Amino acid sequence: MERYFDENHLMIRDMVRDFARNEIAPVARELDVTSAFPWENVRKMGELGLFGIPWPEELGGAGMDGIAYMIVIHELAKVDASHAITVSAHTTLGTSPIVAFGTQEQKERFVPLLASGQVLGGFGLTEPGAGSDAGGTQTTATRADGGWILNGSKIFITHAGVGEVFVATAVTDRKAGPKGITSFIVTKPTTDLDRAREVGVGHSDALEFIDGVRAGKKEDKMGWRASDTRELVFDNAFVPDANVLGEVGKGFVNFLRTLDSGRIGIGALSLGIAEGAYEAARRYATERKQFGQAISEFQGIQFMLADMATEIEAAKHLVYHAAWLKEQGRPFTKEASMAKLFASEAAMRITTKAVQVHGGYGYTNEYPVERMMRDAKICEIGEGTSEIQRLVIARHILRELSH
Ligand SMILES: Cc1cc2nc3c(=O)[nH]c(=O)nc-3n(C[C@H](O)[C@H](O)[C@H](O)COP(=O)(O)OP(=O)(O)OC[C@H]3O[C@@H](n4cnc5c(N)ncnc54)[C@H](O)[C@@H]3O)c2cc1C
Repeated sequence: MERYFDENHLMIRDMVRDFARNEIAPVARELDVTSAFPWENVRKMGELGLFGIPWPEELGGAGMDGIAYMIVIHELAKVDASHAITVSAHTTLGTSPIVAFGTQEQKERFVPLLASGQVLGGFGLTEPGAGSDAGGTQTTATRADGGWILNGSKIFITHAGVGEVFVATAVTDRKAGPKGITSFIVTKPTTDLDRAREVGVGHSDALEFIDGVRAGKKEDKMGWRASDTRELVFDNAFVPDANVLGEVGKGFVNFLRTLDSGRIGIGALSLGIAEGAYEAARRYATERKQFGQAISEFQGIQFMLADMATEIEAAKHLVYHAAWLKEQGRPFTKEASMAKLFASEAAMRITTKAVQVHGGYGYTNEYPVERMMRDAKICEIGEGTSEIQRLVIARHILRELSH
């Protein structure tokens, strides 16, 4: 990995690694069991600057590059995927569209609050009838004096409850198809106001909240249980013109660009889960004795560990190569899809093997590998399913053939 990392990258890696071991590992199981949002650690991650890694210092960010950001996601996910997706959904989905497509005024209004972790952000794209086919958005934005009136509902939105700033898409011109979709910045108060006030993050009185934007019921999920996932509802919500993000009609192309970067992040998150499970299995295999010897002495176990280590090495190169291409300003859509596809499917295989290496103990929550196996599954679904990644890759490789 030396070719991708410099001294600053190694410093942030060690810092996040220590934080994850000391502050996240002791609470990860309890947060998973109770499906509780990690407010205390959100405050601590904010203090460490983890919510604004790739943003310029003048906007309150750490001024680091995209590789440093992937390292943060990777290291957090080795210990707990819910913490990793909290930073990832907030940064890539919630904040990056404002940094990329926002006006100077919008950036100054929202990014410092998001980069410090004072408030949490999210991205409202998916709808009940528009998942993989996100261009099938039904939420409408109707022109009104000085703004737009939004009606509709977004589902499975990370941070829809705890968050306060969202980038959401709506149809501004039905006849124009995907070119009739526009992005908006919408705000609502957190559903955890008391807890936010107690920990000192998660809410800002400086935000003007929009009436008619509210969170729905919290999802009871298989994995990522400490991450907040809910419906985000727009009920005659008046969004002022000052909150239109990017050009009217450019919402579709802009969210595709956001998802390209997001896919590298889910690749890094998958890689972290896989590595965490592999490290636990390798350690366990040397400690657990059967037939009078450590189970790591059995070739059957060694082969599993060898396959896990090999897939992790391959996933690392795909993820950091895609991140490097992006940093170089080169095209990276195909490579981002490849990194996400391979790393998420590898994470599923590796966490399943890690449970197998642990035998019956692996099936209980005494060891973290069963949580990691549940956490890995959603990586094959969120931010574009494996099937959608294959479609993106196929489109690119066939296009390359015709050139
Ligand atoms: C925990 C969690 C967090 C999430 N966070 C967010 C968020 O913050 N913001 C947000 O906007 N969304 C979020 N999502 C939504 C997520 O991105 C979608 O669930 C995902 O894109 C798939 O959409 P869908 O669930 O509607 O599945 P569908 O699109 O209905 O897919 C069902 C099946 O059909 C397959 N399929 C669909 N189309 C094709 C095709 N053309 N070819 C082959 N197979 C196909 C899919 O691969 C899948 O296997 C989240 C989801 C979850 C579960």
